Amino acid sequence: MQKSYEVAVIGGGIIGSAIAYYLAKEQVDVAVLEEGQIGLKATSAAAGMLGAHSELENEVKAFFSFARYSQSLYSVLKEELYELSGIDLGFRKGGILKLAFSKRDKEKLAMVLAQPTVTWLEPEEVRNLEQEVAPNILGAAYIEEDINVLPARVCQAFAKGAQLYGASIVEHTKVLRIKKQQDMFQIETTKELIKAKRIVIASGVWSTPFFRQLGLQYEMIPVKGECIAVESAHFVLKHTIFHDKYYIVPRNNGELVIGATMQENDWSEQVSLNGVETLIQKAKALFPAIGQMNIKASWSGLRPQTFNQKPFIGYHPEDNAILFATGHYRNGVLLAPATGEMIASLILRRDVKQEWVEEFQVGGLFRR
Ligand SMILES: Cc1cc2nc3c(=O)[nH]c(=O)nc-3n(C[C@H](O)[C@H](O)[C@H](O)COP(=O)(O)OP(=O)(O)OC[C@H]3O[C@@H](n4cnc5c(N)ncnc54)[C@H](O)[C@@H]3O)c2cc1C
Repeated sequence: MQKSYEVAVIGGGIIGSAIAYYLAKEQVDVAVLEEGQIGLKATSAAAGMLGAHSELENEVKAFFSFARYSQSLYSVLKEELYELSGIDLGFRKGGILKLAFSKRDKEKLAMVLAQPTVTWLEPEEVRNLEQEVAPNILGAAYIEEDINVLPARVCQAFAKGAQLYGASIVEHTKVLRIKKQQDMFQIETTKELIKAKRIVIASGVWSTPFFRQLGLQYEMIPVKGECIAVESAHFVLKHTIFHDKYYIVPRNNGELVIGATMQENDWSEQVSLNGVETLIQKAKALFPAIGQMNIKASWSGLRPQTFNQKPFIGYHPEDNAILFATGHYRNGVLLAPATGEMIASLILRRDVKQEWVEEFQVGGLFRR
């Protein structure tokens, strides 16, 4: 018999898995349809910074309040998901030091420094926190509240939690086409035909064909990012160091993740020598001692970017049975809990802050 669900989520990255978790927790009959395995695409490539302030250069308002809210949900989820799934999210406190090397750098931090939770540190104060930091800094914005997690673990925990609440996680099943007949969606996959009353597109950078099939002309732009992980018995970094979109993130096991390059419109998923070279140069400029560490791993992933660099989280403009949660670009790990909760609330017809609905509406505030 043809399988039928209340909600089918297309894509089992951190976004699709979070949505399934929040829906299943409310007893909604939900399935995640995933082409490969849960969480192996952009989600596994992420460094896992929950840097609500990190992207705060031009804009405060809705995006920032959503990011801060999502970050706060992690404090609850780390216990809740661990108790339910037995998976440790690798939650790590310590904060982020956003370094400034020039007056221009400091000016760019103005928005960040205007937040009551952020402190400006002089070079000596930065060195009291991180002895080996670059000697030529002008100072740093210290964001003590920013945390990091292990993104693949978070995704696994959401998926397992969802499953324990009754969701179906259907791996190795690529969705090929979606059609609406009467009030049901017919979802053609590589394995079988599936029916659902509502669908959520959470297919990351691969969402473009679904926009087309559902009558919209938006495109997802891939922004390739490469990372390397290094380790050393001698140098320990306690805080994440960040400058000009590059960063070094300490893990609980002593490894440091150096990230990340940014190549727009590059669909390749290999790690290039140029990418590694850029990362090493950048990391040495921030934390010279890193040159003595050993490379342990390298990887890459494709960030899903929309034309306005904001995620689309909400209803299809003409059909409330179709929802999108895609285009989370540099912040999908940070925004996953709030995205999952928001999509679940929209489906369950619960209140969602109007400023978030407007900020993330499909196609942006001024639809194209
Ligand atoms: C190098 C790098 C570093 C990053 N660092 C951070 C960070 O520190 N903090 C942060 O918040 N964010 C970070 N990000 C961004 C974050 O990784 C993404 O925003 C997030 O993973 C997007 O999640 P997603 O679920 O939308 O996409 P994905 O994880 O790519 O998941 C989409 C899923 O959909 C599936 N799919 C696609 N098409 C189909 C189909 N037709 N049928 C079925 N399944 C399909 C795919 O197989 C995939 O599993 C980083 C990204 C990169 C690349």
